[in-house]
Parts: sequence; C-alpha cells; structure tokens
Amino acid sequence: MPTENRYEMLWDCSRCETPKLLGLSHRNCPSCGSPQDPTTRYFPKDEDKVAVDDHPFVGADKACGGCDAPNAQTAQFCVGCGASLEGAGPVIQRDVQSDQSGAFAADTSKAATAEQRAKRTAAHEEKTAPVAPSKSGGSGLVLGGLAGGLTLLILLAMCAGIGVMLWKKEAAVAVTGHTWSREIAVEAFTAVADSAWKEAVPVGARNVSCAQAERSTTKVPDGQDCHNERKDNGDGTFTEQQKCDPKFKDQPVYDQKCAYTQDRWVAARAAKAAGSALAPAPAWPTANIGATEREGARSEKYTVTFTESAAPDGRVLTCDVAESEWLGLAVGSRWKAPVGVLSSSIDCSALQPAG
Ligand SMILES: [Zn+2]
Ligand SMILES: [Zn+2]
Repeated sequence: MPTENRYEMLWDCSRCETPKLLGLSHRNCPSCGSPQDPTTRYFPKDEDKVAVDDHPFVGADKACGGCDAPNAQTAQFCVGCGASLEGAGPVIQRDVQSDQSGAFAADTSKAATAEQRAKRTAAHEEKTAPVAPSKSGGSGLVLGGLAGGLTLLILLAMCAGIGVMLWKKEAAVAVTGHTWSREIAVEAFTAVADSAWKEAVPVGARNVSCAQAERSTTKVPDGQDCHNERKDNGDGTFTEQQKCDPKFKDQPVYDQKCAYTQDRWVAARAAKAAGSALAPAPAWPTANIGATEREGARSEKYTVTFTESAAPDGRVLTCDVAESEWLGLAVGSRWKAPVGVLSSSIDCSALQPAG
C-alpha cells in the first residue's frame, strides 16, 4: 500500500505580506488579523511541509458569500463576518500536482490565482459556448466550400488531361504486316535451398539443420513507474501520495529455425518460336524435354501492324488480337477504327471494313 500523507496548504497575507501562513491552522493572519483568501492557497516546498496529524477531514471548506472567508464544512455561520453559510458553495480547489518529471513545479499564491482565473475563464467560455459553434461552423463551411471547389477544379483539369490523352478520331487504316510468337516454359526438378520454422519444414526435406532464432516478442513485467501526486483537499490541507503503474518490456521468444534442401519443379528455361508473316503458319517450338524436366505453361501472341492512310508520316499502329482474327486481316486490306489523335493507339475491338 503506497504511503499517503496529509499536510497544510500555505497562503500569504495580502495586507501585511506575512508569507507561508498555514491553510488549516491560520484562518486569519496571526500578524494583522486579515481573513484567509482561500483562492490563494498554494502547495509548499518539501522543506516547508507541515504535517496534519489528528485533524479529521470533514470535506472542502465553504466560501462565505459575504466576505469570501473559508469556513469549515461543518460551520453554520461565517467566522469572518457572521453571515449564515446556508447555500454557500465549496472553495475553489487547486489542480492535482504531479512530480512526474522528478520534482513538483514551484508553487506560489500568484500561481494559485492565475490557475483560478484560467478556470473561471474556461467555465465562462463553456457557458457562452452555444453561440460559438455556429460562427466557426459558418466559416468552416465557407472554407470547406472553397476547398471543395478547388478539388473539383483540379479533378476537372485531370479529367481534361486524360481526355486529351484518350482523344480519338475515326481513321482509315491499312494492314501492313503480321508478327507472332509462341513460348513453352520448361521446368526442371532441382534441389532448392530454403528455410522454415521447424513445424513447417516439408516432408522429404534434406540436409535439415536447425538453430535458435528470435521468432516473436512477448510483454513481461518490468518493475513500475512511480510518481508523487499532491491533491488539494479544499480544507486548507493537501494529501501527498505515491502513484505507481506497472511497466512492461519486450522479451524475445526463441524457436527452432531450420535450413533445408528440397527437390522442386522450378522454371528453368523457355522454348521460343516467332515469325513475321502469315506464312509459314505459327507453330509451337520443340521443347526438347530432358530427363529431369517437364513442360510448363504455354503462351502465344499475335500482332497486326497498320498504317494510317491519311497520316503523311505514315505512323505505325499495332493490335494484339486472337489468332483467328489475326489470320483474317490480310496485308493491304483497308479498315476503319478509332485512332488516338495524340497517342499512337488504335481501338482494335472496333475495326470495321472500309467501304
Ligand atoms: Zn497579515
Ligand atoms: Zn463572511
């Protein structure tokens, strides 16, 4: 159980300037008799701490509505001016202080009044808050509209750019040539070096050798982070207490990592054939499959080249098509198709015989 100690808050007499008066014991200045102003209570330095041992805690003081003097929670009439304390609210309490960075921040009655002022301002702003959102909301809307407009403009510009790139016109074209290529992938049954965690080493793996390796991490307790906190009790005293949070650290988790060799089918080479005319007809290459090889995937490509009749520079356009279509596009035959104005693209799916 962490220790919890109670000490006197301090206050300075504003009339005769006697410093470090005790919040609980000195309800009036012992030098000039002025009543204590509870809004100026501050936390003492360690060497100025005065312990409160036997005084029972009955709750935060009440602030007198007439003279602002602090009165014990149990009081019926003000010790300063004698007014009834019925309906009197509690004195304002200080924020909790923490020595997280190793020491408590220096505290003074000036700091106390500054803190109270900040709190009153915050409370006031909260009360008048309903007006504020509509104002900022309005300007936010205008800004949002502007940003939206800009985004729209940029999008339009981008679309226009893409549009220019895709801009096509119907053009007359003539077939000028053909090319084709066919390929057979050849795989070989080969010893491959690999590695895996022990339970994932495949059956049939050879030359298996395992060693410890870091596989993951786990969080383990690593002592605790402690700091002291000072809490204003509101009756001229404060409580100092140690607060601790558990700390954790990453600890590596080791496992067996294994290197091994395994025989597998892997891509080894490709047999290729190609041509640049309709004849001789496209044929598959001879793969010459060896003893430790097998045939893999086959692939083929058929390309037709065109020239644009109207273009003075006779730019060359190409289409990749199915073999059957490729065979039907004779050299010299004339077609109509949408052709890119700026890019050398032709819409091969929209070829129409030219009249
Ligand atoms: Zn005084
Ligand atoms: Zn009073």
